[in-house]
Amino acid sequence: MKFDVIVIGAGPAGSAASLLASKAGLKVLTIERGPEPGSKNVSGAMIRVSEIAKVFDTSNLPAEREVKKIKLMLSSKNGDVSVEASPLTKLVTVSRLKFDKFLWQQAENNKALLIPKTTALGIEKDSSSYKVITDRGEIEGDKIVLAEGVNSLLSMKLGLRPELSPESTVQAIKEVYSLNKEEVSKRLNLSSDDGLAWRVISNSPVPYAGFLYTYKDSISVGVGIPMQELIERKIRPYEILDEFEKKFGITELVKGSSLREYSAKIIPEDGFPKWRACKEGIYAVGDSIGLVNPLVFNGIGPAIISGSIAGTAVTESWSCQKYVSELYNSREIKEIAKLRPIESEMLGKGYLSVYDDMITNLIESWISGDLSEVSQYKSQFPSMIKHLLMLWGSMI
Ligand SMILES: Cc1cc2nc3c(=O)[nH]c(=O)nc-3n(C[C@H](O)[C@H](O)[C@H](O)COP(=O)(O)OP(=O)(O)OC[C@H]3O[C@@H](n4cnc5c(N)ncnc54)[C@H](O)[C@@H]3O)c2cc1C
Repeated sequence: MKFDVIVIGAGPAGSAASLLASKAGLKVLTIERGPEPGSKNVSGAMIRVSEIAKVFDTSNLPAEREVKKIKLMLSSKNGDVSVEASPLTKLVTVSRLKFDKFLWQQAENNKALLIPKTTALGIEKDSSSYKVITDRGEIEGDKIVLAEGVNSLLSMKLGLRPELSPESTVQAIKEVYSLNKEEVSKRLNLSSDDGLAWRVISNSPVPYAGFLYTYKDSISVGVGIPMQELIERKIRPYEILDEFEKKFGITELVKGSSLREYSAKIIPEDGFPKWRACKEGIYAVGDSIGLVNPLVFNGIGPAIISGSIAGTAVTESWSCQKYVSELYNSREIKEIAKLRPIESEMLGKGYLSVYDDMITNLIESWISGDLSEVSQYKSQFPSMIKHLLMLWGSMI
């Protein structure tokens, strides 16, 4: 049996592509290596509902808690600074297993077909169509959507992107602690079903970003550390997670709970437009082309938006040029592409750590009424102005 489209991967990007293509009447087959959508995924995960709603019906979204407060903490050897804010847009936490199944269901309702427990191993061009070789046989399709996520071995085999390098990857690890609903609210001082999110930037013992999200009856915590730092300093990621949990009182916070999940994954810090997103009827989406916004920890929204664009591309047989320009035209993806230069400056040259130190020190100096410390940062001002301009440039 031949399909109009074969989608590889049933994550948010793959489900969005499957939904759009099947809605347009194409015969869609989606292959997923896990036993069900979401079973192989690792995410915090907090999402912006407005982004998901651009593609999916969110009326029955399986949200865990609505995030009513975000606490941002900067931590350095000079001390800690924290700010609390209420989000201006609707943010919710989701469990990836329930969320990914919910997204896939909408594609299935439009007659997209899922074959789980099947891994795509290779793609071969066969006159005008494609043959996807899987661990359970071969399938034929006219067009392909590559939605394999960050470890996109097929994209690499096809020469669409290079292998990930330590300089452009962040190692993330995450733990989920089970408690009952009342305990989560009580321990984090939340009223009823409200949710809370923490974002932490620290530079000790290595520069890292930490997070805490509240689910209905559990708390998810994790850290992302530049891979290069781990290699150079021979530190294991769980040592940083332990440090984060101790330093920010999480060890106390989750006392008596049970550890439900421990997982690790890498986050791409490079990708589109440097990596190719398309090759003669093959369209790559989501993490497989590195579409994660590092400033706001957002990968699910861009994955869904790019998946929907690929869904239209396969329906309307777009050229690669048209596909790439449509990706670039979407606000979420353009933002990521424009952030790349500042991202590699900040990560590659260690500026994140410098600014973390500087901000905490300046605030401490201001509070103690002794601003003499400011002069020690004079030499950083030119690079700071350059980075602010780059940041500004990425937003307009
Ligand atoms: C610790 C952590 C926390 C995060 N927190 C957030 C957050 O709070 N908010 C947010 O928006 N983003 C977050 N992200 C990023 C987000 O998870 C990703 O950007 C998003 O999942 C990308 O979606 P995707 O569909 O491209 O890939 P994925 O979600 O990775 O899906 C890829 C799918 O393809 C399948 N697959 C892979 N290879 C094959 C193959 N050869 N054959 C068949 N199937 C295959 C996989 O099993 C998987 O189901 C986080 C990431 C990490 C690691």
